[in-house]
Amino acid sequence: MYSTEFFMPRIDRLASVYLSHPLARVMRSLSAARVPILMYHSVSDSLFGKSHPYYQINCSPPVFARQMRWLRQNGYRTMDLTQMWTAMETGQDVSKTVVITFDDGYRDFYTDAFEAMRQCGFTATIFLATDRIQNTPVRIDGVDYLTWSEVAELHKAGIQFGSHTVSHPDLRSLNPEQIEYELGRSKETIEQKLGVAVESFSYPFAFPEEDKTFTQFLVGILENLGFENGVSTIIGRAGKHDNRYYLPRLPVNSWDDAALLRAKLEGGYDWLHWPQWLYKYAHHNMSLMQRASFAGSEGWK
Ligand SMILES: [Zn+2]
Repeated sequence: MYSTEFFMPRIDRLASVYLSHPLARVMRSLSAARVPILMYHSVSDSLFGKSHPYYQINCSPPVFARQMRWLRQNGYRTMDLTQMWTAMETGQDVSKTVVITFDDGYRDFYTDAFEAMRQCGFTATIFLATDRIQNTPVRIDGVDYLTWSEVAELHKAGIQFGSHTVSHPDLRSLNPEQIEYELGRSKETIEQKLGVAVESFSYPFAFPEEDKTFTQFLVGILENLGFENGVSTIIGRAGKHDNRYYLPRLPVNSWDDAALLRAKLEGGYDWLHWPQWLYKYAHHNMSLMQRASFAGSEGWK
């Protein structure tokens, strides 16, 4: 999900809770308003084969319920992405506002997450890879996906749905027509099923923010298709100067106790964007260099 592969101990936790978070609180009054967008995937005990807490994309149901209650008790309210973006752009008070998102459309949202959210009066946006949503649960690697009737029921209960492509591909490996199909078709499918406009998009896999040519090209396609906003795996809280199609998020999983969750919400995790960016940038340049030297040796032959 994220490609920052060099944090073996929980440096992210220690530095966020004890160093960056206190600093962020001091700086808060000086900085522009930022809204935390939480990124969940599965609400279950399934570990999806990942071992280090930083990479895990599941949040166990009791921990998820505790996190929701904590948000409620601490005065947070939820908004969807479009409401949040409008509020931020028009200068409304967005402190204590949180956006809650779920990628992929796992069925455990319906069975193990929704009730906890409903009890707190919270809403969420679920991003669907529409090929995986059928009339009976699709099972991939032992994990079930939502069905269309569950999606419709959740939508009636106030949950929003966004596009996470049709088949969850690495978009950079596709040609422009295929990319347009992946984005346009999934948007259209959800709109037909729910009878409402789909405004939000979630980029599948780690977001290639270092590849400006590609990300700008993709903004053009998203705009043409009528998307209003979107989210990525860039780490941090969203501000009005961010690209509205690639808003940063805060990954949350079973390992987020109250202290770490609070630190993330209040900006204590935003610093992680720098090592994340450096890693991607270095990686990107290295592969460009490798390609150049490969091309050079080809030429020499
Ligand atoms: Zn995904």
